[in-house]
Amino acid sequence: MPTTSYAIALGSNRRGRHGSPEAEIAAALGALGGVVAVSPLLRTAPLGPSKRRFANAVALIESDETPPELLARLKAIERAFGRRRGRSWGARVIDLDIVLWSGGTWGEPGLTVPHAAFRARDFVLRPLLAVAPDWRDPVSGLRVRQLAARLGRLA
Ligand code: AMP
Repeated sequence: MPTTSYAIALGSNRRGRHGSPEAEIAAALGALGGVVAVSPLLRTAPLGPSKRRFANAVALIESDETPPELLARLKAIERAFGRRRGRSWGARVIDLDIVLWSGGTWGEPGLTVPHAAFRARDFVLRPLLAVAPDWRDPVSGLRVRQLAARLGRLA
């Protein structure tokens, strides 16, 4: 398969063996490989009952993996970084999501690309805007800058 591009959302709200959430994100970028652009780091208040603050970023990577192959690798990185499963809103060392794929859409049980929630998440759209403002969401037909503006108006 020819090389494709992905936008990957990274989040951390717990210290791990690499240190602070910021250090965990830096280490995860190294583990990801193929990184061609990284957004500035965003620090945001958490959603849900967790009291911790989040650090978030979006990276553009180049990879010849299919979305399920990449997702399997992201999950392996999450496990290696010490994330505990089944605690979606709890503290997590690292959370890695596939946001966009240059190949378009992918849908199968357990994997939806573009990510089903990214259009409503400020902590994804803001960093995404910094690295890929003109990337067009194949589902809505809107560019990232339009999605970000729309979310800003609704907020
Ligand atoms: P979360 O706890 O929000 O990180 O959800 C992780 C689960 O969402 C994973 O086990 C995936 O099976 C599923 N999932 C569905 N679509 C995606 C996507 N685009 N990127 C990452 N995970 C996804």
